[in-house]
Amino acid sequence: MSQKSLHNHYPIVPPTSNFKLMEENGPQIMARGKGVYQWDDKGKQYLEGMAGLWCTSLGYGNGEIAETAAEAMRTMGFAHMFSGKSHEAGIRLAEKLEQMLPMDDSRIFFGVSGSDANDTQVKLMRYYFNAIGRPDKKKIISRHLAYHGVTLASGSLTGIPVNHALFDLPLDGFLHTDSPFYFRDAMDEETEEDFTNRILENLDELIQREGPDTIAAFIAEPIMGAGGVILPPEGYFPKLRALLDKYDIFLIDDEVICGFGRTGNAFGCETFDFRPDTMSMAKALTSAYMPLSAVAIPESMYQAMIDATAEHGVFGHGFTYSGHPVSCAVALKVLEIYERDNVFAYAAKMGSYLQQKLQHFSDHPLVGEVRGTGMIAGLHLAKDKETKSFFDPAGTAGAKVIAACVDNGLILRNLGDVIAICPPLVISEAEIDELVDKLGKSLDGALEDLKRQGSL
Ligand code: PMP
Repeated sequence: MSQKSLHNHYPIVPPTSNFKLMEENGPQIMARGKGVYQWDDKGKQYLEGMAGLWCTSLGYGNGEIAETAAEAMRTMGFAHMFSGKSHEAGIRLAEKLEQMLPMDDSRIFFGVSGSDANDTQVKLMRYYFNAIGRPDKKKIISRHLAYHGVTLASGSLTGIPVNHALFDLPLDGFLHTDSPFYFRDAMDEETEEDFTNRILENLDELIQREGPDTIAAFIAEPIMGAGGVILPPEGYFPKLRALLDKYDIFLIDDEVICGFGRTGNAFGCETFDFRPDTMSMAKALTSAYMPLSAVAIPESMYQAMIDATAEHGVFGHGFTYSGHPVSCAVALKVLEIYERDNVFAYAAKMGSYLQQKLQHFSDHPLVGEVRGTGMIAGLHLAKDKETKSFFDPAGTAGAKVIAACVDNGLILRNLGDVIAICPPLVISEAEIDELVDKLGKSLDGALEDLKRQGSL
């Protein structure tokens, strides 16, 4: 098909897109990638500073992973895990995860995406509490601005307005509490500790109001990604954990972005010092080369469900592609590369370098806050950082910075007025310098533009 027709005829309902803008501008078509770079179909080169959608940890065009996938396809191509069947790659991968996870004795359920992993979390909570004779313990608490996916259940866990608008979400039984958004929400003179205590008191009140016996679980991303790269204030997670323990509420740890080295440790819960009860993983589990998700649950939960299947028949939840053998083979290879090449330690070291360079933007007139850890960061744009006055509508400045980035050959993403930075973990020091340099030029360009427009 000619290049012209690729751009002019686009018979796709584009996911998570502004349809009106797509109709006006058409798609940007990416053609190939190598390492941290991608090229569009016109041959323009971009430094890909978002690892796709926070997922391509090992970068693009990795021949070793391609060989692994090809071999798994040649050997069999497909095998399922229903009704007593399994396969070697799936079992080996579950064993490997069990060893890696900061959980005692876990069992793994495989899916395809982060959304279905969190949907499975909701269904497991229902199944488990029904199985142990506590059918009233079903509600799940999430946080405003959380992102846990877009299926009906995971979309209900999500706390971002556009993911609810016109979809009649959230469904009943899903509650939302404060996000730990210190920069935006702290009151004058409020310390991080006071802020944390205040929002956790609100949570405590919510739990008491609803009744602790009606609440199954609380779900959290260690760093809230799509909501605006929101890092927990000091002490937030240990205090949250203690509060949930007091009321016998599970903590579901959504490691879909943070898992596998992103925050400088293997898992975000290690960076922020908390013990999860169950965990969701996807994205970097395969470095995004194949779709795969994993939900880890404690052995004790599984044991209780064995009794239920003895009484009620099969556990009626699973996908055709649960534990797809090509995805599992790719994940095993990716985990092998992480270990062999010390990718997490490398990302921690390069992450410090990235954070240190980004801190220079704290003085930029358009930047209200620079936040991040490891290989994930956000620049929160503000009209006036002293008075914390933000752009209205949100995204006014963010969209301009991203447009300038595209001109400068850099791919980042704006979450409203937060510029997200989440490069492949294998990025080099020179490539970080290039990213920061291009970002600086883009911030300056957007600043001039906003001034010219009178938006500043
Ligand atoms: N959880 C988190 C923390 C995510 O960031 C995402 C996706 N960005 C999801 C779940 C949903 O994953 P998917 O898009 O693979 O369904």
